[in-house]
Amino acid sequence: MKIVIDEERCVAAGQCVSAAAKVFDQREEDGIAVLLDERPPAELAPDVRQAAAVCPALAIRIEE
Ligand code: SF4
Repeated sequence: MKIVIDEERCVAAGQCVSAAAKVFDQREEDGIAVLLDERPPAELAPDVRQAAAVCPALAIRIEE
């Protein structure tokens, strides 16, 4: 699993951080999402999928 965040789409809502705090964080300046782990371990996959599902901007893409 590889994660890509589209920074142009991200509206800094923060739901991804709530869903998967080990994988996503937000930049201090503007709240745009940043990846802590671009290729997270398999056990985090459900959290990452949840994060992508709740992102209101559809800014999280998962490549298998
Ligand atoms: S949930 Fe989506 S819009 Fe919100 S911070 Fe994360 S990537 Fe950005």
